[in-house]
Amino acid sequence: MLNNFIRDISHEFRTPLAVIDSSAYILRRTEDAEKRDLLVERLTTQVNRLVRILEEILTMTELDMQTTEALSLSSVAVNELIGDVMIELAPLVDGKRLRITENLDLSLTAIPGDPERLRRAIFNVVQNAVNYTPDGGSISVQTRNIDSAQLIEVKDTGIGIEADDLIHIFERLYRADKARAIEDNGVGLGLSIAKQILVLHRGKIQAESIPGQGSLFRLILPVAGDEYARSA
Ligand code: ADP
Repeated sequence: MLNNFIRDISHEFRTPLAVIDSSAYILRRTEDAEKRDLLVERLTTQVNRLVRILEEILTMTELDMQTTEALSLSSVAVNELIGDVMIELAPLVDGKRLRITENLDLSLTAIPGDPERLRRAIFNVVQNAVNYTPDGGSISVQTRNIDSAQLIEVKDTGIGIEADDLIHIFERLYRADKARAIEDNGVGLGLSIAKQILVLHRGKIQAESIPGQGSLFRLILPVAGDEYARSA
């Protein structure tokens, strides 16, 4: 399994490295200031991409410990995490002229959990909603209490996910072809990381989608019982 993963992820490194290599080659031979600026920008984009892939691999390995030791448990206010994520994604949202609706249940209580990891899980899901929704579309984020759990729903009016892909999207490095065409930044680790984080919190992540119409992601976080509180 590890060998397969290393082979697949090596592929993801190859493209940015090839772009960096060729950009550096042309840069050395170009006098034109405008062209040089463009090449430097291209280099920076690819370096950032490599940094992001490395960070995701690192996160994945840390979470692989599969125990709550991978978590720094404290108190989590889900609505606040959503607020942080929306601020972080605002430039991307504005750039695509997306309409955002937030419907947050203010009666949610703080729950035990790892705020940084959960923020990452929510971020990955909302970032996908942004990435896979064409300009001018809508995204809605909702929170509410359900039986002994807190529910976060992220809904978009994006490209959607075919049923054949939907069953694989939480697997490492899985990307639907349509997604590749629309957004070339991801490597297919975001949702598997989100799922691992939810599972470590004894929670769940689920997806529904209608191709061409949009997707709905549900993150379900238990309001922890005794066992969980002890491990905190
Ligand atoms: P990526 O880095 O490709 O975004 P993810 O693990 O976050 O990787 O998602 C896996 C795949 O699931 C994506 O490549 C895309 O095919 C699909 N996907 C995830 N979220 C959405 C969404 N909101 N709308 C459409 N497709 C999505």
